[in-house]
Parts: sequence; structure tokens; C-alpha cells
Amino acid sequence: MPEAQPAAQARKRVLLIEDEPAIRTVVIEILRREGYEVIESASGQQGIRAAVSREPDLVLLDWVLPDISGLDVCREIRRQGVLCPVIMLTGRSSKVDMVVGLEVGADDYITKPFDARELAARLRAHLRRADQSPSASRREGLLVVGGVQVDTESRRVRVSDEEIPLTMTEFNLLALLAANAGRVLTRAQLLEKVWGYLADVDYHSVDPHMQRLRRKLNSRDAAGVALEAVPGLGYRLTPLS
Ligand code: CA
Repeated sequence: MPEAQPAAQARKRVLLIEDEPAIRTVVIEILRREGYEVIESASGQQGIRAAVSREPDLVLLDWVLPDISGLDVCREIRRQGVLCPVIMLTGRSSKVDMVVGLEVGADDYITKPFDARELAARLRAHLRRADQSPSASRREGLLVVGGVQVDTESRRVRVSDEEIPLTMTEFNLLALLAANAGRVLTRAQLLEKVWGYLADVDYHSVDPHMQRLRRKLNSRDAAGVALEAVPGLGYRLTPLS
């Protein structure tokens, strides 16, 4: 009996960038079984082109590739404006490596060898979150803090009339902070609400995302907000009066 397909909305497109044919085959089988459309790339450069031109809903990116590293691929596709979730596949499991991955704009990582169900669950969680407004969003869908407008329906952020490009994770963090403007949210709260699960990750894995978010907001005077790290507690977004 064929396995039940997940409730189909639009079919999601997953880009897999992995050079090892054996792993590619296994992962593609898992992805197809989950009902995803799969695009495959066997090198970093090919993967960058596919990420930019084929508009995947999610990128699964191997850490070690023959031409350029997965980290460089991630950095480059973010630079070129790809905002979808990026999950790194890694043979390493050290927290240092994971933090480096998050710093270049990855949303999550999965350590090889991985369990098929774990991979599938992780993908579903990221794709679901990409489809949803954060749970803290208001019904009218627009959160305004200082000069920052967070539209949780179109998932766009504007300062004055300028749209600020954010990754999925950055958007979710900002929406959550904006919905709780003036209040401190702990790293644990942010991880749980934005990642949707508490993986065995260091709470400080939130920090690189926050640093990038702060750079994007702080570089614009019209934003009129302070995104602060509150020592020992977490983060807070407050309007500057
Ligand atoms: Ca590899």
C-alpha cells in the first residue's frame, strides 16, 4: 500500500545540494516519499545557480562539496537574496560548526547519518513555519513598532517605504519580538516559538540570527527601534521615543 501523502497544498520544492551520489539517492527518496518536488545539484556552484533561479521553498545543503564549501554556498545564496529556509547536512556535530553555519544564514542543521523520519519531520517543521504567521501575530496582521512595519500576512517588513529583506528565521524572530514589543523574550522562548521545537541546540544559536537582524534594523535610522540583548535574559524590541 502506498504511503499517504501529506495533505497537499501547493507541492513544495526542495533543492538538494549534495555531491555524494549514495546520499543523494537516499535523501531524494525520502523527499519524494514526502511529496516534495526535488531539484538536485551535485556541486556548490550549480547549487547556487539553482537556488537563485528555481525558487525552492527549502534548501538542503551539504557541508562538504567538491568545489566550494556549503558554508560559502549558504553565504552566497543569502547575498543573492534567497530567503527560504536552509538546512545544512553535516558530518560534524560540534556546536562551533553549528554556530558558524547559523552565522552565514543557515536556519538549522542535521547531522549525518540521519534518520529518515527525523529529516522528514525537520523539513515539515520548517516548511510549515514558512507558510504560517507566527503564533503571536495579531489578527489584523500588521505589527508596527517605531518605524518598523511587520506584515505577518504578506511576511514583509518595511521601514518607511523600503522593504527590508529578511530570512525566514529573521522574520519570525522579528514578528515575535514586535508582537511583544517592550518585553524581554528569553532565548528559550524564542527558540521554542520560532524553531517550533527545542532541538538539542545551544540557546545561544539564536544570537547569530539576532546579530544579523540588528544590523539590518540598526543600519536604518528610520527604523526608530532598539533591538537589544538584555544580559542574562534575552532580547527586547522597543520603540525609540
Ligand atoms: Ca559531500
